Amino acid sequence: MPQARITIPELLDQLEKFYGTQEPCWPVDPYEFIVWWQCGYPASDAACTKGWDKLKSEVGIEPGNLLAGTPRKLASALKAGGMVPELRALRLKEIAMRVKDEFGGDLRLSLAGPLSAARKTLKKFPGIADPGADRILLFGGIAPIAAVPSNCTQVLVRVLFGQEDKSYGANYRNAQSAIAATVPETFDARTRAYLLLKQHGQEVCKRTKPRCDQCPISSDCAFFARHRT
Ligand code: SF4
Repeated sequence: MPQARITIPELLDQLEKFYGTQEPCWPVDPYEFIVWWQCGYPASDAACTKGWDKLKSEVGIEPGNLLAGTPRKLASALKAGGMVPELRALRLKEIAMRVKDEFGGDLRLSLAGPLSAARKTLKKFPGIADPGADRILLFGGIAPIAAVPSNCTQVLVRVLFGQEDKSYGANYRNAQSAIAATVPETFDARTRAYLLLKQHGQEVCKRTKPRCDQCPISSDCAFFARHRT
């Protein structure tokens, strides 16, 4: 199997040179992220941001705002983010109720304990599985976890190993292990890695039909070496 001729730190430097410095376009506070994630469907940065902006201006995003608004009013704002706004409105009410009743209105405070408990707490919220929990813990400044963008698990496994596993979970874990082994365990380094891999996976190394002819790291990519002949 072809092997990459590039380390992850080198790969990230090349991606940064190509795409520039990246910043998260979503709210990094844990509670706000969970609300933002429900603001669009199908969930994407653009859809969630549209719904979020509308919800913020027409209803507000604090637990009290969401509980005071009627499901109809919430759904009307959420329409800006795409499909099933009525269902997402009910989920927002559930999120707000849980944060108010179980966590005294302060979700961040409740995540301050052991990591396993924080992860368990986050995964009780609708739409949050392990990749989402990793993302919240990293960007929320709670633990510098080697999070992998959930829609871009393909990037590192292609570059490093030349092909993806059939299992999404295996790709996620392989990419996560590679980051954990090579990217310093700091918030800055791991958020930078997450954001650059996300950008590359969305723009060029797409899940289906990667644009290898436009890729700044093709000469160092095991997948490219494997498929060009
Ligand atoms: S060469 Fe192709 S597979 Fe490799 S990183 Fe670039 S786009 Fe992805």
